[in-house]
Amino acid sequence: MLATNGRLKLALQRSGRLTEDTVRILRLCGLTFEFSKQSLYSPCSNFNLDLLAVRDDDIPEYVLDGVADLGIVGENILRERTANRKILLPLGFGMCRLMISVPQRSSIKKVRDLSGKRIGTTYPFTLRSYLAENKVNADIVELSGSVELAPTLDVADAICDIVSTGSTARMNGLRPIIAVMNSQAVLVANPKSLRDKKKGTLIDRLLIRLRGCLEAQGKRYLMMNAPADAVPQLQRIIPSLKSPTVVPLAERGMVAVHSVVAEDVFWDVMERLKQAGASDIIVVPIETIIR
Ligand code: ATP
Ligand code: ZN
Repeated sequence: MLATNGRLKLALQRSGRLTEDTVRILRLCGLTFEFSKQSLYSPCSNFNLDLLAVRDDDIPEYVLDGVADLGIVGENILRERTANRKILLPLGFGMCRLMISVPQRSSIKKVRDLSGKRIGTTYPFTLRSYLAENKVNADIVELSGSVELAPTLDVADAICDIVSTGSTARMNGLRPIIAVMNSQAVLVANPKSLRDKKKGTLIDRLLIRLRGCLEAQGKRYLMMNAPADAVPQLQRIIPSLKSPTVVPLAERGMVAVHSVVAEDVFWDVMERLKQAGASDIIVVPIETIIR
């Protein structure tokens, strides 16, 4: 059932690993709202959008049913919870992998070794299709939590769970061996909302902003002064200075060079830029890049 007041509803995780980054990226998009995990709704004061704070597991269904028009959720949850795979935009945070892990001394090494074994997971649907794709017959032990304890409790021979650094697995004496899927936070939409004229337009506007913020991530705006004849050399030092803005300065023969560069590139080459004659080098953060 779609709300009829014309405002968009975006479902996000109320409190968990995705919450902080989700709120951060929405604020970076210029949305003004007060977010508290105590309230279900947080209205944006400068955009026709209300945030709906819920458990991440419910987000795919809410978006599919139209309880929310948009949702920000991990691909892992999306794949497990609904057939709606239409991802509007990958958001570049919440990176993790769904992995099969085994006890350190287990003889299980590859997918085929799982044949006839018990695998504990809270991702039965995703695991079942992965095993089917690999033509492996194993027992899926559906758990509701504390999956990492399953081998110790002899409930399972292996587990299939989310891993980001692998340190939790190691702490529990487990070794991640097989990646079932890679995951990151994604923006998903209700298909009807996308088709709706008013809501579709709002979603497009939000998408342009989100893309702009993602585009700006890891990039810096670089400004420096240099002798005009040093510009080709500066471009050799920073190849991404493909088409810098070059502005003449009042001092004859001197120019200001402006360009967008990746932040890691800049720190590597700063000394060489100075040797090539660059001075007054300024690096500033970029909030958004609209192409
Ligand atoms: P909720 O109370 O909303 O159900 P939860 O406990 O199920 O929360 P979190 O642990 O907060 O979920 O994880 C939310 C999402 O964060 C995961 O579904 C996954 O997409 C992502 N994520 C990133 N890194 C990790 C990690 N190391 N472990 C688990 N999830 C991770
Ligand atoms: Zn959850």
